[in-house]
Amino acid sequence: MFKSFVESFKNIFKKPLTIDYPKEPIKRASRYRGLIVYDVNECIFCDKCEKVCPPKAIVFHQNMDGTKKYHYNEYLCIFCGECVRNCPKIDLALTHSEIKPSIGTMDDKIFTHWRQTYKEAKQSRIDYKESKKKDNSL
Ligand code: SF4
Ligand code: SF4
Repeated sequence: MFKSFVESFKNIFKKPLTIDYPKEPIKRASRYRGLIVYDVNECIFCDKCEKVCPPKAIVFHQNMDGTKKYHYNEYLCIFCGECVRNCPKIDLALTHSEIKPSIGTMDDKIFTHWRQTYKEAKQSRIDYKESKKKDNSL
């Protein structure tokens, strides 16, 4: 009884563990895994992020001039951090932002569009390889 009274008395002077949200903003952990941010100027186009992404939320489109275009689906992303961890330019080409992940959506338009983007990106690689083969055989 006395012990719990002392404990309660001590707690009066302690800083609360909770915050006065929404007046006080929530502090993110130092390695908070928010939305992925990509920097084309730092990317070396190794495709590692695409290969390691479990839900296939990243895909690169191969342009015929040799450049590649990055695509990212934030609705498919599960914020596992594998792409960032495996990126040779970690925290430069790919970083986790502090932006809260979007809440999952069942909007079919997004997924239909993404399926199309993904399919086209994969096809663009095949087309590029074919055209390179043709060029080399000439
Ligand atoms: S955080 Fe995970 S799910 Fe999201 S893009 Fe990176 S590898 Fe894919
Ligand atoms: S892993 Fe990093 S460097 Fe490689 S393609 Fe992805 S973003 Fe670019």
